[in-house]
Amino acid sequence: MDEDIFIIDDATHHMSTSGDSVCWLCDHYNHRDAVIVNKFIVESMPKMQLDIIVRQVYQYIARKFPNAGLCENGVREHIHQHLLIPQVKVAELLRDLISVSGELRVKVMTSDDNGNTVVDRHNMDLYLKVVSQIMQIYKAGDNSRMLFQDN
Ligand SMILES: [Zn+2]
Repeated sequence: MDEDIFIIDDATHHMSTSGDSVCWLCDHYNHRDAVIVNKFIVESMPKMQLDIIVRQVYQYIARKFPNAGLCENGVREHIHQHLLIPQVKVAELLRDLISVSGELRVKVMTSDDNGNTVVDRHNMDLYLKVVSQIMQIYKAGDNSRMLFQDN
């Protein structure tokens, strides 16, 4: 092998956030159990809490492959950074936007100096923009069957 390739590999290794150079799930993506796990992640992302998905994937792999060296953070990194499957990214984005909309929603109604309940126009505008983005994603998901493929 060319020496330059080793230098590039080394740089990649140092950039890894988990400190592990190889993700077990990516390294075995064609293996039966990795296929099962990735399918489970894709189908569960719009339906389950991320923490539960991460825990179940971790437990499945740890039970079957005790030497895989995959920790819960490794599973989380695999979902967030390695899987670029649209259903996974769309579900992540929706979850983020819905969380933001929830935080904005409680700031829409406020009190003026006299104690009257009034609408905070700025937060109302932001809230409606975020809701509109959420609806756009649902529409795009409907059209492309990107989101809920098994419905
Ligand atoms: Zn991975």
